[in-house]
Amino acid sequence: MTQAGEGAEGPVSRREPAGHADGLSAGWDYAPAPESRDIVSIAPEYGLFVAGEFAPAAGGGTFSTVNPATEETLSRVAAAGPADVDRAVAAARAAYDQVWGPMPGAERAKYLYRIARALQERAREFAVLESLDNGKPIRESRDVDVPLAAAHFFYYAGWADKLEHAGFGPAPRPLGVAGQVIPWNFPLMMAAWKLAPALAAGNTCVLKPAETTPLTALLLAEVCHQAGLPPGVVNVLTGAGDTGAALVAHPGIDKVAFTGSTEVGKEIARSVAGTGKKLTLELGGKAANIVFDDAPVEQAVEGIVNGIFFNQGHVCCAGSRLLVQESVAGAVVDRLRRRLASLRLGDPLDKNTDIGAVNSPEQLDKITRLSATGEAEGARRWSPPCRLPDRGYWFAPTIFTGVSQSHRIAREEIFGPVLSVLTFRTPEEAVAKANNTPYGLSAGAWTEKGSRILWLAQRLRAGVIWANTYNRFDPASPFGGYQESGFGREGGRHGLAAYLDA
Ligand code: NDP
Repeated sequence: MTQAGEGAEGPVSRREPAGHADGLSAGWDYAPAPESRDIVSIAPEYGLFVAGEFAPAAGGGTFSTVNPATEETLSRVAAAGPADVDRAVAAARAAYDQVWGPMPGAERAKYLYRIARALQERAREFAVLESLDNGKPIRESRDVDVPLAAAHFFYYAGWADKLEHAGFGPAPRPLGVAGQVIPWNFPLMMAAWKLAPALAAGNTCVLKPAETTPLTALLLAEVCHQAGLPPGVVNVLTGAGDTGAALVAHPGIDKVAFTGSTEVGKEIARSVAGTGKKLTLELGGKAANIVFDDAPVEQAVEGIVNGIFFNQGHVCCAGSRLLVQESVAGAVVDRLRRRLASLRLGDPLDKNTDIGAVNSPEQLDKITRLSATGEAEGARRWSPPCRLPDRGYWFAPTIFTGVSQSHRIAREEIFGPVLSVLTFRTPEEAVAKANNTPYGLSAGAWTEKGSRILWLAQRLRAGVIWANTYNRFDPASPFGGYQESGFGREGGRHGLAAYLDA
C-alpha cells in the first residue's frame, strides 16, 4: 500500500473512513458494497463503427484501453487512420443527403427517444462500463453520467419537430456533417451532449472519443444500431489525438465541436480558421467557488467538496479555487478537513466510494507535478490520512491553504482532486479575484442574501454561475464559457444554434 496524505493521524485501512474527527463514528464502518461487473460483457477487441457496422481500422492498428483502478487491460480498440476518417465522413455525408437530412423532424425524434429509452434500460451496464474504463465511482456514473446522457437524448428528441419554433427563423437548416471530439472525463455524457442536439437538428455525426475511454461510446454505437438508426447517421472513430486532428481537418466536415484542453482547442481553432466550418469549443476552467461569511457553513462545505472532489476533480467547471471570506476562513477550512477525512477513496465499483481512480498515468503525473509547485511556491498542503491502493492511478484529496493569486495552483487547471484556498475581505475583492483568470467557464456563490447573488452574477465573468449549489447540470440549461474556456453553448435551446444554419 502506498500511503498518501500528511495528516497527523497516520495511515488507516482503505475500508476505514479516513478519520473520526467528531468521535461519533469511531469503531463503525461501511461493509464493502461492490457493484457486480457481470452485467457488462467486454469483447477482447472492438472495431470502428462506420456506416452502421463495426469493422477493423483500414491500417489494422489497435491500442489497448485500461482500467485505471487496476491497470488491467480491458480490451483492444481499433485506431482509426486517415482512410477510416475518409470512410466515416463519406458515410455520414451519404446518410445526411439521402436519409437524415430529408427526414421530417418528428421521425428523427422517434430515433432519439429510442436511444434515450435504451440508455435507461441498459443504465446499469453503461454505469459499470464507464466506471471500469474511466475510474469514476459507480455512484457517480450511475446517478449522474448515465441519467444525464439519457436526459439529453429525451430533451433534444422533444426539439426535433419544433425547430421552426425555436427562435432561429421560420426554416432553420442543419449544417451537414459534424466532426465531434470529446474528452475522457465524462465519456458517455459528452457523447450525448454532442450527438443529441446535432441529430435533433438534422445533422449526421462522426464522433471521436478519447483514447483512454472509448468503451461507452462504442456501447452507445451499439445502442444506435439497436434503435434502428439508419447507417452512417452516427459513426464512432476510436483513436488518439492524430485521429481527432484528421477528423477536424477533413474537408468533408461542416461543423467541428470539441471539448478538451485549451491547448488542443487553440490548435483546432487554427486548423479550422478560414475553412467556413462552424466551430464550438468547450475548454478548460479555473472556477472560483465563493463563500461569504453569511453562508450556511455545512451546506457550503458540501458544495465545496462536490465542487472539487466530484469525479476526482476531472471536471472543466470544477470549483478548484475556493475564495472564502477571511472572517470565516478558519472555521470553513476546519470543517472542510473534517469532511474530507470521511471521504472514501478506492474501488470505483464499490457503491460507498467517493473518490475513484485518476484516469491515466499521464493525468496523475500532471496532478502530481502541479501539486509539487504549490508546495515549492509556499502554499501549505494537507490531505487526510488515507492509503492508496498499490495498483492503479490514485491521488489523495488535497487542500492547499496560504495560496496567493500568483501561484501556479491558483492559475492553472490541475484537473484533479486539488483545492486551492484563497481569502477575501469584501465582495469587490471576491469579484476581482474570481475574475483574475484567463478562463471563464463557471463560478459558485454561497450566501444567504439573494441580492448579493444577483450583484455577483452581474460581475462574475463566467458562463455558468451556481448559487448555493455546485455542479448542477440540466439538459435544458445552456453550458459554455468565455475567454480561454471556449465559445458556443451546449444544452438548452442555445445548444441547437450550434448545429443550425440559422
Ligand atoms: P485533450 O484536449 O488532448 O483531449 C481531448 C480530446 O481531443 C481527446 O479525444 C483527444 O484524443 C483529442 N485530441 C488530442 N489532440 C488533438 C488534436 N490535435 N486535434 C484533435 N483532437 C485532439 O486533453 P487531454 O486528455 O490530453 O488532457 C490534457 C489536459 O486537458 C488535462 O490535464 C486537463 O487539464 C485538460 N482537459 C480539459 C477538459 C475539459 O473538459 N475542459 C477535458 C479533458 C482534458 P486522445 O484522447 O487520444 O488524446
